[in-house]
Amino acid sequence: MTLWWARRDLRLADNPALLEALGDGPASAVFAWTPALHFWSGRRRAHLARVLWSLREDTGGALAVRRGPAHEVILTAARETGSRIVWASSEHSPAGAREQEAVRAALEADGRELRLIGSPYAVAPGRVTKSDGTEYKVFTPFSHAWRDHGWRAPAPAADASSLRALDSDVSLDSQAAHGDAEDLLAQTHEFRESRVLEDLRAFVEGDLARYAAERDRPDLDTTSHLSVPLAFGQLHPRTILAATARVRSDSARVFESELAWREFHADVLHHHPTAQRESLSAVLPDDAWITGRDADESFRAWRLGETGFPLVDAGMRQLAATGTMHNRVRMVVASLLVKDLHLPWQRGADHFRRTLLDYDHAQNQLNWQWVAGTGRDAAPFFRIFNPETQAKRFDPERRYAQRWIPELDTPGYPSPIVDHQAEREASLAALKRNKPPQTRH
Ligand SMILES: Cc1cc2nc3c(=O)[nH]c(=O)nc-3n(C[C@H](O)[C@H](O)[C@H](O)COP(=O)(O)OP(=O)(O)OC[C@H]3O[C@@H](n4cnc5c(N)ncnc54)[C@H](O)[C@@H]3O)c2cc1C
Repeated sequence: MTLWWARRDLRLADNPALLEALGDGPASAVFAWTPALHFWSGRRRAHLARVLWSLREDTGGALAVRRGPAHEVILTAARETGSRIVWASSEHSPAGAREQEAVRAALEADGRELRLIGSPYAVAPGRVTKSDGTEYKVFTPFSHAWRDHGWRAPAPAADASSLRALDSDVSLDSQAAHGDAEDLLAQTHEFRESRVLEDLRAFVEGDLARYAAERDRPDLDTTSHLSVPLAFGQLHPRTILAATARVRSDSARVFESELAWREFHADVLHHHPTAQRESLSAVLPDDAWITGRDADESFRAWRLGETGFPLVDAGMRQLAATGTMHNRVRMVVASLLVKDLHLPWQRGADHFRRTLLDYDHAQNQLNWQWVAGTGRDAAPFFRIFNPETQAKRFDPERRYAQRWIPELDTPGYPSPIVDHQAEREASLAALKRNKPPQTRH
C-alpha cells in the first residue's frame, strides 16, 4: 500500500505525486485539515472545502479529509493502510517546508518514508541559478534563465478510480456552510477541476489575444482569473504554459512572463525565508512609519474603501466583496498604504492574507515588498503611484470605480483623506534624510 498526501496540488491532471502513489500498487489519499486553517478567512475555507469535495467526487469518494496537524494525520493514515511510502508534492514556503519536515520525521521514526516529487511551480524554487550557482536578484535575467531552463510537458491525468477509500472526520458540507456564514455575499467561485481546465481553454482561445493590451485595465477585466485555482493547486503552471506555448503572439509571451513573476517570488522566498516578514532592503528606518491613532484611522479608511481615491476605494471594496482584486489596483492600493499613509507594508499584507481568496504567501509578501520598494528589482522606493493619474490611465471612463462605489458621484463620497503630492514629498524626504515623514494630513 502507498499513500498520497494531498496538499497544494488538489487535482488529478498533471500530478506527479499522485501518479507515483498510484503506480506503486494499491493506494489511498488523505488531506490534513490542519489547525492553521482556522486562521483562514471563512470565504477561503469554504472554497477549500468545495475544492476538496469536488476532488473527492473525482476520486470516486476515496479522498479522506482528516482533522489534525499534518504529521499526525499522515502517520495515522500510513499506519492504518500499512503504507511504507507516502508521496507528496513539495512545498517551499517556510510553513510548508516546516510541515513536510515534521511529516518526514514522524514517518521515519516509524520506519516509513516521505517521498517528495514536483512542486507548485514549473521550475522548483532554487533551481534557476547563475552560472556560479548563486541566485538571481533581478527579475528580467531570472525570467530569461527560467525560460532557458525549461520544464517538462504536463504529466498525464491520473485515473484515480483504483484509490481505496479512507474514512474522513471533517464534514466538507458544514465547513463550506460555516465559511459561507462568515462571508456576507458568499459568492461561490469555480471549484471543479474540469471547469477550471475549461476556463483555461476559454481564456487561451479568447481574452489571451488582448492580454498584452488590456491586462492593466480593471474596467475591462480581461485577465485570466487563474490565480485562485493556482493557489489551491487545481491547476499546475506547466499545464498553463503548455497551452500558451501553442499560441504565437506577443500577448502569450507577456502572459507567460507574469507566470515567471510567480516563480521568481517563490525563488526569492526560498532563498530568503525571512522576507515573509522583514524587508529585504531597509529603505526607511523603523521610525519612519506612522503609529497610534492616526495610523489606525488611516488604516480603517483604507480597509473600508473610504479614502476618497476612487481607484483605491473600488479595489478595496472589490476585495471585500469577492476576495480578489485586479493586479493594477493591488499595486495602487498598496502604494497608497505605504507611501501616502506611511503604514508598514506588513500591515497591508496581513489584511490581504485575511481577505484574498487567491492568497499565496510568496506572491503576497513579495509583491508587497515590490510595491513598498523594499524588495528585489526594479521598483525603487521613489517610484510612487499617483492614485489619480493611475485612475485616468487605467479606468478612463470610471466604469470600474462606478461599479464598486455606488455613492461615487454623490455628496456622500469623501474627499481624499490625504494630499497625495504632500505625502509623496514626505516619503521622498524621509527616504533622503532617512528620517520619519514630516508632513501629516
Ligand atoms: C500587493 C499585491 C499582493 C498580491 N498578492 C497575491 C497573492 O496573494 N496571490 C497571488 O496569486 N497573486 C498575488 N498578487 C499578484 C497578482 O495581483 C495576481 O496574481 C493577479 O491579480 C491574479 O489575477 P489573474 O489570475 O487574472 O492574473 P493574470 O494577469 O491573468 O496573470 C496570470 C497569472 O500570473 C501570475 N501573476 C500575475 N501577476 C503576478 C504578480 N505581480 N506576481 C506574481 N504572480 C503574478 C498569477 O499566478 C496569475 O494568476 C499580488 C499583487 C500585489 C501587487
